[in-house]
Amino acid sequence: MKATVYKGERRVELEEVPDAAIAKCSDAVVDIEYAGVCGSDLWTYRGQGASAPSRIGHEFVGTVREVGSEVSSVKPGDWVIVPFRYSDGVCRYCQKGLETSCIHGGFWGRESVDAGQGEAACVPYADDTLVKALPDGSRPDEGIIASLLTLSDVFTTGYHAATCSRIRSGDTVVVVGDGAVGLCAIMAARLLGASHIINAGSSHEDRHLLAKACGADEVISARGDDAVKAVETLTSGHMPDEVLECVGSAQSFSTAISMCAPGGSVSYVGLPHGVDIDVKSLFYNNITVTGGMSPAHHYIARLLPQILDKSINPGLVYTKEYRLKDIATAYEDMDNRRTIKPLIKVG
Ligand SMILES: [Zn+2]
Repeated sequence: MKATVYKGERRVELEEVPDAAIAKCSDAVVDIEYAGVCGSDLWTYRGQGASAPSRIGHEFVGTVREVGSEVSSVKPGDWVIVPFRYSDGVCRYCQKGLETSCIHGGFWGRESVDAGQGEAACVPYADDTLVKALPDGSRPDEGIIASLLTLSDVFTTGYHAATCSRIRSGDTVVVVGDGAVGLCAIMAARLLGASHIINAGSSHEDRHLLAKACGADEVISARGDDAVKAVETLTSGHMPDEVLECVGSAQSFSTAISMCAPGGSVSYVGLPHGVDIDVKSLFYNNITVTGGMSPAHHYIARLLPQILDKSINPGLVYTKEYRLKDIATAYEDMDNRRTIKPLIKVG
């Protein structure tokens, strides 16, 4: 089968790899239909993540082809969502809804595990990793497939930022970042009852429009100290109690802390790179830093109904569709900000 391999800085290639196959009785093989390219894939692409060569991709949905003898919750033909980490569902961390810390879990594409930007993947602990979109396992309407794909990572990540910050109804929330996670955090903040949402650090007109379509009331292009001043003006000096940091860079983290009101929280979900927190600034203002890696699996059941009834449409973060054979172009376009997030059609 064909799968995407990261070959070194700014090089991904579609290569022939061994076919996905059942190795343990708890495995299932999924034929991948759609995959996403994540911001963390982009860090790898830029030479700041996994070492080369390695299989890449961890956001995917598709149809179960085959199951191991112990698998009972899915059957061949079921259409499933695959969270960005696999997990066993039974360890103490899975039991408390932190599947990303599963003792037996792991990332796609590490060691001998398949990754998500390929034709198929063998899924460990299929009963507890895979989530059927519909109870009977049938394929949902084409119009909501992209939104369902966001449950594998990006939308649950934005939702994690909003949930960890404990947004209360009527709050003013600032979302730092204009990538797909930031857009999802805007939608999630709205879902949780925020009444005034400001998106900071949005660079281009097309991103401004998308942020507003996701629920932002105001969008500011400024970054750093200028962004802090702009937020101060927009809130008449009352800084926000909740700031959602959705980039992961040193500058965006520092900006998020600087604009947070005393007693408030900064919730971060961007994969941190070079971040060095000034703990004293947290101390003097009683600011809580929360967030981390989203337990996507934990949130899927909560968010699925709102995608199925079309009350939310997080699929709009995928701004361009590519075929799997054009995966290198998809990365190149994302790297050059020609698309916010590529949607890869595999099947
Ligand atoms: Zn576990």
